[in-house]
Order: sequence, then C-alpha cells, then structure tokens
Amino acid sequence: MSQTPDQARPTPRAGIMDIDAYVPGKSTAPAGVAKVHKLSSNENPLGPSPKAIEAAREIAGKLDIYPDGTARRLREAIAEVHGLNPQNIICSNGSDEILGLLAQTYLAPGDEAVITEHAFMVYKIYIQSAGAVPVTIKERDERADIDAILAAVTPRTKIVFLANPNNPTGTYVPFQEVRRLHAGLPRHVLLVLDAAYAEYVRRNDYEAGIELVGSTENVVMTRTFSKIGLGGARIGWMYAPMHIVDAINRVRGPFNVN
Ligand SMILES: *Cc1c(COP(=O)(O)O)cnc(C)c1O
Repeated sequence: MSQTPDQARPTPRAGIMDIDAYVPGKSTAPAGVAKVHKLSSNENPLGPSPKAIEAAREIAGKLDIYPDGTARRLREAIAEVHGLNPQNIICSNGSDEILGLLAQTYLAPGDEAVITEHAFMVYKIYIQSAGAVPVTIKERDERADIDAILAAVTPRTKIVFLANPNNPTGTYVPFQEVRRLHAGLPRHVLLVLDAAYAEYVRRNDYEAGIELVGSTENVVMTRTFSKIGLGGARIGWMYAPMHIVDAINRVRGPFNVN
C-alpha cells in the first residue's frame, strides 16, 4: 500500500499543531527598573516558607514511596483553613493540571470555551488540546467585560474561564459582577473561577468564589500554592460540586500530586 508522506509517521490529532506552545515567564521590564519581582513566574522575594523547606527535607527520605493518590491530609488541611468540606476538594500538580483536566472532561471537539482578551495563556492551550474552539472576548480597560462574555455564549459554549484577579493584567472583577455573570449563564455552562492570585487581594468587594461554588452546580474555583512561595512544588487545588469532583477523579492520573 502506498502512503502519503503525512501518513508515514504518527500524526497528532487535528488542531494540535495549531497550538502555540507556552513560553514561560515571558515579560519585559521598562528600562531603568533596578529590581523586578517576576510574579508571573512565581518568584517570591521571600523564598519558600522555612516550614515548607523543613517538610520537604523530611519527606526526601521517602521518595521511593508513591504519594497518597487522594491527597487526603492535604485536602483536610486546606479544608480546615478555608472552612470547606474536604470531599469537595481535588488536589493537582499545580492548578494548571486541574484547568487541563476540566477542559479535557467538559469540552468535546467543536465545543466553545470563552476566555478574555488577556486571559492566562494556558486556557487557550487546553481548550485547543481538547479539540474545542477558544472564543476570545475583548476587555474594557484591561478588565473582563461581563456583558460581552454573556453575549458570546452560544448553545455550543461549555466553559467560561475567568482568572480573578487576572494574570497578566492584574485587574479583578468585583464579586457582584461575578454573580451577575453566573446568573446570566445557562446552567450547562461551567464557570471556572481561577483564583491563583486570591492571596494578593485585600478588597471588600473581592471574593475568590467559595460561596458561589457551594451554592450552585456549575461553578468551580481553582487555587494554587505557586504564588505564595511554592511554585516548584507544583501544588494546586480545586473546590467543586460533588458531581464535578466525581468526573475529574475518573480522568486525573492516580498519583498526580508529588
Ligand atoms: C500561575 C497561574 C496559574 C497556575 O499556576 P500553577 O503553578 O500551575 O498552580 C493559573 N492561573 C493563573 C491566572 C496563574 O497566574
């Protein structure tokens, strides 16, 4: 049988080669700036917590043992700090992993996922990896435009990704606006609130999304330890309704968290 050159070797699925690979830490500082803390790459001027260093040293002698695949102790600790039910938490290899798992689980080829103009770069990569179509919504003054997002929803829309606060713009959406966004979405659309920088906000009109997740069926909140000094440890987590936890647990790798 004759083969065309394209068929003479394994070929990625349609669309994969259209993805632009992520360029880590891409940013520039204006000339004359003496010292830059590159938060986009999680550089923490204080370094990791001494307690985290100590814990890592302790565990180093057990590198031959698989971790607990359900990350039970970590989920319980997170649940205690935030007042959550540990059953509604999934830990992941950075929150990047959970964002990818959400795309993989809830997007099929031809589906649409809505992102904002200056959205965190990985959303588009995971949307395209799932064979779905990223729909990019213009921002207003570098802020997510809730009305424009709602106007872009079609019957094919399955996910809306919103980083709040957003990286790289540094802007955030007040929680009343997030509620308005949720209220305007059809119930089959998953609203992903990516609160990677939640620890950086001290504003009365900001909420990471815990209450909305707890009181609805189509909202998840993703969080990370990366921006608070543990980027290298690759630990993220998601707070989600039980039916979403159940679906993601079927897709994620069994020992995904180091
Ligand atoms: C840094 C970041 C993440 C993911 O970081 P992880 O290290 O994978 O946890 C996700 N979303 C936003 C907006 C970020 O800035």
